[in-house]
Amino acid sequence: MDARAEQFIDTGARSMALEQSYAAPNYAPIPVVLERGQGCWLWDAAGRRYLDFMSAYSAVSHGHAHPRLVRALVEQAQQLAVASRAYHSTTLGPFLAALVEAADLPAPARALPASGGCESVETAIKAARRWGYRVKRIAADRATIAVARGNFHGRSSTVIGFSTEPSYRADFGPFAPGFRHFDFGDIDSLAAAIDDNTCAVLLEPIQGEAGIIVPPSGYLAAVRRLCDERRVLLILDEIQSGLGRTGAMFAYMHESIRPDGVIVGKALGGGLLPVSAFVAVASVLDLMDPGSHGSTFGGNPLAGRVALEALRVIHDERLVERSRVLGEHLLMRLDDLASPLVRAVRGRGLWVGVDLDPKRVSARAVVERMAERGVLSKDTHETVIRFAPPLTVEREQLDWGIDVFADVLHEVSGTSARSRRPALSAPAA
Ligand SMILES: *Cc1c(COP(=O)(O)O)cnc(C)c1O
Repeated sequence: MDARAEQFIDTGARSMALEQSYAAPNYAPIPVVLERGQGCWLWDAAGRRYLDFMSAYSAVSHGHAHPRLVRALVEQAQQLAVASRAYHSTTLGPFLAALVEAADLPAPARALPASGGCESVETAIKAARRWGYRVKRIAADRATIAVARGNFHGRSSTVIGFSTEPSYRADFGPFAPGFRHFDFGDIDSLAAAIDDNTCAVLLEPIQGEAGIIVPPSGYLAAVRRLCDERRVLLILDEIQSGLGRTGAMFAYMHESIRPDGVIVGKALGGGLLPVSAFVAVASVLDLMDPGSHGSTFGGNPLAGRVALEALRVIHDERLVERSRVLGEHLLMRLDDLASPLVRAVRGRGLWVGVDLDPKRVSARAVVERMAERGVLSKDTHETVIRFAPPLTVEREQLDWGIDVFADVLHEVSGTSARSRRPALSAPAA
């Protein structure tokens, strides 16, 4: 091995050792040390190339280092990055106008920006409760929010308090009261969780971290009807499912309904910055008067500029349409695998989970083998492998990644998971 390659390998080993020594152990990363990204490709410290089938949980839906987004970032960083909401700025208005338009809620609607996604979940909880007290006239401190079992809405102490995942909760209590559970996808269960003190239903249209669980068709429309009948706000968490991931701008558009509020994050930052927002009808967000809520970095000029450009790129590059068309192809090819290791294939758009039989194979082992072969994915809930490439992915790249997956399944099972292309030569970057 030449000295240059050896030096790169050392960089990787040293980086891993430093992380292991100094980082809190709240993640168990796949042993790949990433150094560079461009489009759908990532490179590690030794210069090896990987196809990104993870997109940082949808945060990189535009692909890595999208030239338009990088240009917007650099230009705005040189002009004005952070000023605080103590003043107006030239980028916030255009950004929120475009976001509110994209969400297509009943007019008038408003948006409240923040940074990480969970912060906007917190905004939604606060705004919903305020609506409960001031509009629905729920008695003080009695408002409840109905949440689904298996939900994922982030990691704040309030939000994990209504998680049903033991590892997210263990020894982090006491938790905030005021949340009631229902079974995801079951409308009768939701009806039973709602009473006169319920101000909102908070729901992921497709449950991502739970393993990409798609509810029965018609479910969201039934939830909308129930919320109308019982005078309860419908708030959808589209932090992961939104901005084209499922083949619609927002997943609720598949069922032609409009929620009262939608939480947006991840891809809103164009893969460059944390940008999130709670978008809701004015009758809810106008209750958030001066002093009621805030965020130092929320809606800063840099975030506004990049997020506006991120929305424009989704439109100009027809990323929603790409996700729908390529997503159908992805689902069809994964359905076709016919491997005895596969229990189920679920998803919508470029967002598919393959549920593997844990008695036969560990999803983590499959993910690690895929990484060795140059495709980066991630297991969730021990058995599900996710396929969520940037929405800019080319069909040829998608096919190659699926071929590698099929090949790995074949290797670990020793059986007949079919791969359509016997010679697996990677497409050009
Ligand atoms: C990622 C995610 C969050 C939390 O967002 P952060 O940016 O990690 O705080 C909340 N809800 C859903 C559905 C998510 O996928």
